[in-house]
Amino acid sequence: MATYRDIEKVRYLCDCGKKHPLCWLYLCRHCFKLRCGDCLLHEVDTHFCPCCLENLPSTEAKIRKNRCGSCFDCPSCGHLLSTRATNTMSVNPDDPTKTTPKKMYYLACGFCRWTTRDVGIGDKSAATGGWQDLESLHSDRITLLLEYYKKLSLKENSEKEREKFIKRRGHIYYTDKFGLASVALKRKALGNSSNSGLSEDDNVSNVVIEPAETVTEFPELPEDVFTTAIGLNKITTIDQRIASSEFQPSSVNNLYPRHKHLQVRKSVRCKKCDHNLIKPDYNSASIKFKIQSTAMYHVPELRVARFNMFSPQKEVRAVFTLSNHAVYNVDVELLPVEGEDLYSTGKFNLPGKKIVLARRDEDALYEGNNPMENVFDDDPNVVVFRKLNKLGFALGVTPLVPKGEVRIAFVMRHSYKNILGLPSDKEEVQTVWLEHTIYASLGQAVPE
Ligand SMILES: [Zn+2]
Ligand SMILES: [Zn+2]
Ligand SMILES: [Zn+2]
Ligand SMILES: [Zn+2]
Repeated sequence: MATYRDIEKVRYLCDCGKKHPLCWLYLCRHCFKLRCGDCLLHEVDTHFCPCCLENLPSTEAKIRKNRCGSCFDCPSCGHLLSTRATNTMSVNPDDPTKTTPKKMYYLACGFCRWTTRDVGIGDKSAATGGWQDLESLHSDRITLLLEYYKKLSLKENSEKEREKFIKRRGHIYYTDKFGLASVALKRKALGNSSNSGLSEDDNVSNVVIEPAETVTEFPELPEDVFTTAIGLNKITTIDQRIASSEFQPSSVNNLYPRHKHLQVRKSVRCKKCDHNLIKPDYNSASIKFKIQSTAMYHVPELRVARFNMFSPQKEVRAVFTLSNHAVYNVDVELLPVEGEDLYSTGKFNLPGKKIVLARRDEDALYEGNNPMENVFDDDPNVVVFRKLNKLGFALGVTPLVPKGEVRIAFVMRHSYKNILGLPSDKEEVQTVWLEHTIYASLGQAVPE
């Protein structure tokens, strides 16, 4: 299959005018249009750790700096660290002459063999860890800056709100010149009389921020910098330093386990109609979707069966495959592109008759027989083969260019059954015809 790996060979036109492979597209079942990533609203549903699959609400994830509390990454290679147990002999507190075996735990990387012992971090007596986090030297300043900017943005927001208010009703300006009315209203709503009306604005100026100092002088390089050999296995790489940005260790002795980054499950929504196209299950251990409307499951997938070599002005029968992932038979019609076709570099005749594409039948797939064969009244000049929910069809293409890429564009019109789940038991099936413009690259023309 020429397009099995090279997915860019066949592209479908999104409603926004961009061309994408089918596997990158979604089908909105309310607008009946293809949607690409840019035509969708991406929303974060849940935060979870990819290793222990713990779910976290977004506020807690923010407090934990989007990192998991119990899983660690190797600071040397980034692979997951695993806990190893060892037996050590410790002195019995009741009888100092005897020693008792005791289980101790440390973290080790299964990939690069880095361990917490390498950098002198002591073993822990509990398997769950209790690995202390390093405190950054600059954490106080960062907290102060964060606080300052939070207040600044609050102030900006309240000013923006007030401006909106002024624009709408000009005369309010005189009564609400100092923004007291909105603050007073807020205070009334909160029932909190201890907060003074101006405290919010005052706080911004109360936070004193020392301006950052410009570094003008750098310490001299040590005398032996050019004479002693560099031990490359002693210094960290740029990647290792950036990965722990708070500390940026320059020596491998200062590497420290890093908390694993959290990942998110997101749902996507159509920008035009606001309906969900993807809604994953809330549980991070589940791979199911509540709503899944990827185009692959609803739109027949076209692929170029093989790479074609063309000679100028000579017709080649280019074979395409069409597969149907839907659970019903789909009627497909191929039509020329409306208006001027600036994409095509080949001349071709589309089949006039509609092609019936069999439904996806998983039982037939395992049984191995092919009951669908010869059921559909196929034109042998068009349909080359049929296998379950897939068929191959041929188009005679004559290149119009002496050399270079031979490509064609056409419109695929197909039937689509929209199953509307009703609150009652019965489902309502609505059949509509959808049209997609397809751009396919068939191969190369070479001069004889
Ligand atoms: Zn788009
Ligand atoms: Zn975790
Ligand atoms: Zn490692
Ligand atoms: Zn929509």
